[in-house]
Amino acid sequence: MRLLKATGVTLLVLAVALVWTFLPQRLDFEAMSAELLPPANPPAEMHLSLLQTGRMHSQALFAYRGGSPFDARDFSMGGILVQHPRGDLLFDTGFGRHVVDHAETLPPLMKLTTRYSVGTPIADQFSAHGYQAAQLAGIVLTHAHWDHISGIPDLPGVPVWLDTAEQLFIGGDKPMAQLAHSLLPLPIRTYGFDEKPYLGFARSFDVWGDGSIVLVPAGGHTPGSIIAFLNLPSGKRLALIGDIAWQTEAIGIPAERPWVSRMLVDDDAGAVREQLRHLAAIHQRFPEIQMVPAHDARVAAGLPQFPETMR
Ligand SMILES: [Zn+2]
Repeated sequence: MRLLKATGVTLLVLAVALVWTFLPQRLDFEAMSAELLPPANPPAEMHLSLLQTGRMHSQALFAYRGGSPFDARDFSMGGILVQHPRGDLLFDTGFGRHVVDHAETLPPLMKLTTRYSVGTPIADQFSAHGYQAAQLAGIVLTHAHWDHISGIPDLPGVPVWLDTAEQLFIGGDKPMAQLAHSLLPLPIRTYGFDEKPYLGFARSFDVWGDGSIVLVPAGGHTPGSIIAFLNLPSGKRLALIGDIAWQTEAIGIPAERPWVSRMLVDDDAGAVREQLRHLAAIHQRFPEIQMVPAHDARVAAGLPQFPETMR
């Protein structure tokens, strides 16, 4: 009887602890007052489109601490095409033609909790509108998780741009790198970062040298995760933040993913927390930079859907 009571108390304590991990908890962060908006001289011909390839069905509960279990969220899955006179780049590829097979490579608990619906793969959207994938100078990955790389095999021969940290991740045997690992060898183009600070990041890579596309290392969700700052000729500025935050509230509040989500998807949850603090500071100082999480369907709906574009 005493044992039964002790077990009951232990279970109750564990249940309370688990519930606590979902409750609101705002991250504190330091303001970045002295920073100036980095200069950019994008060519007038530069333009951008979003390509949606499917949805994942979840709740705000799992996206950020304080999110409601009754707030259903469809996570958008896709990529962003940036056409630039120096070379077109596709940021992430979303769900590809073989996404059903690709989902089979997920760790068991992820597979069990992942519900998704499939749309039109990027390669098929390209051919439907006469866009030649051979025009692409590269596929730039925010990170190499399955839902960002599933479309890569549909675009054979297009170089996949990766920093060395993400290449090490793909080369290893971590469960979340399994799909990327299985796609090797890929036509990888390695890039590095210059010792040039950008919006508080110590290093950056100005892809075409005009400040229009600037990549910064932002490891945590995966070791080689990056953020892509896109500065358009209209003056509009976007930050493709990958999966550092799944929904914009995570930056606005700011709040990290609840423990169970962090445990499932983040390589280094402490580093993701620091990235969120940094993004919150950028968002506060420069609200004109639109934060674009890879999976916030509300943000995706506000961007031009391929073949529509914006400059
Ligand atoms: Zn993702």
